[in-house]
Amino acid sequence: MRGTVIYAPGDVRLEDRADPRLIVPTDAIIRISAACVCGSDLWDYRGVNPVTRPVPMGHEYVGVVEEVGSDVATIKPGQFVIGSFFASDNTCPNCRAGYQSSCVHRELVGGAQAEALRVPLADGTLVATPDLPAPELIPSLLTLSDVMGTGWFAAVAAQVKPGQTVAVVGDGAVGLLGVLAASRFGAERIIVMSRHETRQKLATEYGATDIVTERGDEGAARIKELTGGIGADAVLECVGTAESMRQAVASTRPGGYVGYVGVPHGVRLNGEELFFTHVGLHGGPAPVRRFLPELIDLVLKGDINPGKVFDLTLPLDQVAEGYRAMSERRAIKALLQP
Ligand SMILES: [Zn+2]
Repeated sequence: MRGTVIYAPGDVRLEDRADPRLIVPTDAIIRISAACVCGSDLWDYRGVNPVTRPVPMGHEYVGVVEEVGSDVATIKPGQFVIGSFFASDNTCPNCRAGYQSSCVHRELVGGAQAEALRVPLADGTLVATPDLPAPELIPSLLTLSDVMGTGWFAAVAAQVKPGQTVAVVGDGAVGLLGVLAASRFGAERIIVMSRHETRQKLATEYGATDIVTERGDEGAARIKELTGGIGADAVLECVGTAESMRQAVASTRPGGYVGYVGVPHGVRLNGEELFFTHVGLHGGPAPVRRFLPELIDLVLKGDINPGKVFDLTLPLDQVAEGYRAMSERRAIKALLQP
């Protein structure tokens, strides 16, 4: 089969790789219907994370089950399935508490920008749709594998409630879907930080009411100004840099919460500063498995359309262009069709 491998920053290739096979009896093999490039893949692509050896890429996927191991009971060949970037058993105490991305048996799923994929712990990880979905629903279903679930978790972690003012730091796909989640949770005012016209437009479509173009301390000051000097009730941090985290904390009112889902790079918090803000922090790798049944239902009913974040669709053999376009911010998110 063909699969994507990163060799060095800026060097992503589609190449012939061994077909994935069942390794343990709880595995499934799926034929990928669609995959995509994640903002977090860009940390490797831009050389922020060191790339010391060739690594198969991709952790967002939807597809049709081809084969299951002898211990797989509920997932069947022929089903259309969606799974998270962390495989989970969905039965351990952490899974039952809704933190499947901290499953005691968690395993990172990698190599999804490919024609086929091995998914560990198939019964716990994968959720099947009732029928094969219409092709036009596939982009939205694909977002549930990571970005929509992550934006949703940001809003859950920030404890967004009806009538609140919410600020979203980051206008990537996760930030935009954080806007959608905050809107579904009944936020009255949603302030998004963005300097890009196409992203501002989609944010507005998803429910944003205010756009702030300033960043860092100036961005936080602008949010204070828009909220009568107090700060937002809930802030969704969807970037992961030191500046964005600092901005998120500084934009939150005393007693408010930051939901942080950007993978931290160089984030250092000052304990004393944090102490006197009265701001609550909750975040981490999103337990997207928790939200899959509910979000699949919303997509199939046509209540949400998170697939609009894909503004570039490419055949898998042009995966390198997908990375380039996202890295140069020419595309919000690239969908790959094997
Ligand atoms: Zn578990």
